[in-house]
Amino acid sequence: MNPDLKYSSRPFRAAGARGVLHCDGVSLEALAKQYGTPLYVYSAYEIVERFLLFKSAFAVRDHLICYAVKANSSLAILKLLADQGAGFDIVSGGELARVMAAAPEAAGRVVFSGVGKTAEEIDAALQAGILEFNVESESELQLLATRAKKRGAKARFALRVNPDVFADTHPYISTGLREHKFGIDIRQAPAIYRAAAKIKWLEPHGISVHIGSQIRSAEPFGAAVRRVSKLAAQLRSEGIALKSIDAGGGLGIDYHSGGDGSDAAAKVAEYAGAIEKSLDGFEGRLLIEPGRFIVAQAGALVTRVLNVKKNGKKTFVITDAAMNDLIRPALYQAYHEIVPVKPRAGTARAVDVVGPVCETGDFFARDRKLKPIQPGDLLVLMDAGAYGMAQSSNYNSRMKPAEVLVEGKKHRLIRRREEMKDLLATEIY
Ligand SMILES: *Cc1c(COP(=O)(O)O)cnc(C)c1O
Repeated sequence: MNPDLKYSSRPFRAAGARGVLHCDGVSLEALAKQYGTPLYVYSAYEIVERFLLFKSAFAVRDHLICYAVKANSSLAILKLLADQGAGFDIVSGGELARVMAAAPEAAGRVVFSGVGKTAEEIDAALQAGILEFNVESESELQLLATRAKKRGAKARFALRVNPDVFADTHPYISTGLREHKFGIDIRQAPAIYRAAAKIKWLEPHGISVHIGSQIRSAEPFGAAVRRVSKLAAQLRSEGIALKSIDAGGGLGIDYHSGGDGSDAAAKVAEYAGAIEKSLDGFEGRLLIEPGRFIVAQAGALVTRVLNVKKNGKKTFVITDAAMNDLIRPALYQAYHEIVPVKPRAGTARAVDVVGPVCETGDFFARDRKLKPIQPGDLLVLMDAGAYGMAQSSNYNSRMKPAEVLVEGKKHRLIRRREEMKDLLATEIY
C-alpha cells in the first residue's frame, strides 16, 4: 500500500509545473515515450484500495470478494488481487487457466459462473478444486453431476437464480429479468435444490444472483439479495442449509467528468448496507463478485493523435487507438472522458474523436468539446480499466496494445505490445 496517497480521487491527475497528466507518481508522457501507444496504464494502488473498500465494508461478516476476472484478466492484476486475499469469479476455462497461472493458491476461492460451461471446463474446475459452480440450468446441473461422478468427487454448487429484478442500466448488460438468458427462475429453484440434495455427487452449497452491470443505485442489489435470502431460509427449514449467498457483481462507476472517484467509499458503504439489510439473518458466508468497480477507474488508455481533419462542418481527431482497443463506446454507447496529457491553451470546440478502423462505429466521442488538439498530441481515455483490454481484438489486423502497471513512482510492463508475428502465429496456409 502507498502510505503517501490518501484515497480521494482517480489516480490520473495533472502534476508538475507543466500540468502533465500522471498516473500516481509517473508521467503519462514518459510512459508513452518508453512503451509506445496505444497503451493501457493502471494504478496498482487504486486497484488495491478499491478492493479494500469492499473488504472493510463487509468486515463484520464472513465474506469472500470474488473479483470478476472478465473485467480485466491481465495476470499481473489477478496476482495483485490474489495477494490481497481476493477470490475470483470466472466464466470460462480460459479464465480458470489465468487464475491458476497467476495465483494457483487461490483455486479454492474461485466461483465458476456462465450459462454455457463445457464438460472440459467443468473437469478442469473440479480438478482445480474450486469453491463452487454457479449453475444456470437443470441440464448443466446434470452435466456437473455426471462429471463429478466420473472423478468420484462431490461438486459444490449454487443455483444462479433469476430474481426478476429490474436494474436500470444499458440493456446489453442487464441480466436479472426472467426474459434474459441468465439464471434459473427463482420459483423453480426450490424443487431443483430438493432433487439435487438427493444426488450423491452434488453438494448444495450456495445460492447466487447477478442482476447486471454498471448499476449505480444500491436498491436493486438489496431487492435481489432479499429474494435469495428468503429462498435460503425456506430451504433451511426443509433441511437444506446453504453455506453461502453470492450477491454477484455489477456496482457501477461514474464515467462522466467530475466522477473523480471521491465518492467510491460512500458508494460501497451504501451497497454493503443494502445487502447487509437484505441478508435477513442469514448466517453463512457472503460472496460478492465486483469487477468494474475495482478496476475501471484505476485504468486509462493513452493514445496519440495521428491526424486532425475537417469534413464539412465536422472536425475529426483521429487517434492511434481504435474500437479494437476499447470497444465500449461502439458497443454500449459508453461515455469515456477524454483528457489531453498536456493541455493546450485555447477555446474548446466540438470534435469527434475516432480511431482508424474502417467502421463508422469506430468512435470514442462525438461532438465532444475539447481544447485545441494537434497531430502528435497524447490523449487519455479515462476509466478504461474495466472491459477495455479484456474486450480488445485484432479487428482490422491491428495488434493489441501493451499494458503497464504503475506502483507509486515505479512502473512495469505487464503485457508487451503484440507484434506482427503474433498476428499470424495461429494461421495455417
Ligand atoms: C460480469 C459479471 C460480474 C462482474 O460485473 P461488474 O459489473 O464488472 O461488477 C460478476 N458476476 C457475473 C456472473 C458476471 O457475469
